[in-house]
Amino acid sequence: MNILAFGPNGSGKGTQGAIVKKKYGLDHIESGAIFREHIKGGTELGLKAKEYIDEGNLVPDDLTIPMVLETLANSKENGWLLDGFPRSLAQAEALDKALTESGMKLDYVIEIVLDRDIAKERIMGRRLCANDNNHPNHIAFDAIKPVEKDGELVCRVCGGELSARADDQDEAAINKRHNIYYDDVTGTMAAVNYFKNNTDAKIISIDGSKGIKEISEELISQLP
Ligand SMILES: [Zn+2]
Repeated sequence: MNILAFGPNGSGKGTQGAIVKKKYGLDHIESGAIFREHIKGGTELGLKAKEYIDEGNLVPDDLTIPMVLETLANSKENGWLLDGFPRSLAQAEALDKALTESGMKLDYVIEIVLDRDIAKERIMGRRLCANDNNHPNHIAFDAIKPVEKDGELVCRVCGGELSARADDQDEAAINKRHNIYYDDVTGTMAAVNYFKNNTDAKIISIDGSKGIKEISEELISQLP
């Protein structure tokens, strides 16, 4: 079973991908990891990609697509779940073509649908516990809201000190990523629509405003 997973930053796509991967024994392939693997392995494509990355530029599609394809072709027998790629309409078209040419079938496209403002709130509201990374705290969710102690917000599980990841508070960076994701002309939403309208893959659209457990249950109920 081969799956593409879409969802904006803040939609919990990574978490859901991990749940699906585990249940079906798939390879969870994340686009950033593909670059890292090729660069670490010193492949020809990896070396070329590194030049772009080192200069702070986007790796062009004619390098990215073959890297993605190679990784997919080497994946587990049970199939793969590709996450974070394609990000644009052009990449979607190229990936579709490359999959067809290589005889690989795309079975499902998972789309986690979430309003842009909520996605941003979800990213910015995450808090880390100084004592344990596995103590979830979030200022926008009642179920895991930090508690107040001496006028400070502390971990709701252990009372530990809380902090926010710098990345999560970088509004400009979040906006930049969301600009690409929510662009339905040439961006990621256009890629999602491409798969909806031009391929035989089954589309599973899930309301991302629900909780992690509800989303994963709904998702799995729609997979075989
Ligand atoms: Zn804690």
